[in-house]
Amino acid sequence: MTAQYRGRFAPSPTGPLHFGSLVAAVGSYLQARSHDGAWLVRIENLDPPRESPTASDQILSTLEYFGLCWDEDVLYQSDRYSAYEAALDRLREHELLFYCTCSRKDLRDAQPKSPADSGSEPVYPGTCRWRRTAPPQPHSVRILTSAAPIVFEDALQGQCEQIVEQVSGDFVLKRRDGLYSYQLAVVVDDAAQGISEVVRGADLLGQTARQIFLQKKLDLPMPAYAHLPIVIDNAGNKLSKQTGAVDVRSGTGYTPLWHALNFLRQDPPPELYRASAAEMLEWAVPHWKIEHLAGELRRTLHSINENPSYDV
Ligand code: GLU
Ligand code: ZN
Repeated sequence: MTAQYRGRFAPSPTGPLHFGSLVAAVGSYLQARSHDGAWLVRIENLDPPRESPTASDQILSTLEYFGLCWDEDVLYQSDRYSAYEAALDRLREHELLFYCTCSRKDLRDAQPKSPADSGSEPVYPGTCRWRRTAPPQPHSVRILTSAAPIVFEDALQGQCEQIVEQVSGDFVLKRRDGLYSYQLAVVVDDAAQGISEVVRGADLLGQTARQIFLQKKLDLPMPAYAHLPIVIDNAGNKLSKQTGAVDVRSGTGYTPLWHALNFLRQDPPPELYRASAAEMLEWAVPHWKIEHLAGELRRTLHSINENPSYDV
């Protein structure tokens, strides 16, 4: 059973690897290696306007620097358009797709106005559900959702349940600018790469039901899921490329890896703080206990520039 374990790390190349993505990389890597499994890397370069041309290579070289060596060839989503188109064809045959001509403004205007709803993602109002053939004007392609709840067991966050129709509504699979959506690509590629468990940040927990919904409609196997706590800064914001999180390689040495192990509640010994990446991982694989993170959705990181203080 464990010999078939296949995990992955799937960064979007929008900038250099920051501490939040290092945590996801290390968590998925250790979970795979501690199961004697394969660990794959997939570059999710689906959105050229948001990407940096150097980020993919930079991310891969940072992974190598920290000793996070992957198996098999790196999969680039930019090479996968025909697979995404085939998945769309299949959904179209099942009459699950429709063509949406709503503008951003149409969608905004259709949202409930109560302040309680501000900030939550827009729910598609169903306007174009009737449009089953592609119109001449610009359009996106959406999938028809239903009111059936999606229930799944997350290894860390426990039982999760979501009614996709209520949370996002009919979501986009192909954008009006012709780009494929993250939801479609992630589902097609997790299946194509034979991923048995997805270990990633809890910022994606709320998207998982949509992915399971799509897996069912495409008759694809469902991987197991484990969502790691996301790293937040002192101000309570998610560390991300957009909020200016720094490149984990901007400092010297391997200490960010020690801090990632500490953040993941693996209690790395202080003596390892100045060790090489290889030594840290050699310690971490047999000691890995993902269950130390059970139920934790977010956690504040104070600093990765100080010596071990045990209060992270
Ligand atoms: N590419 C996504 C990101 O960088 C992660 C996708 C995933 O792990 O499912 O946020
Ligand atoms: Zn529409």
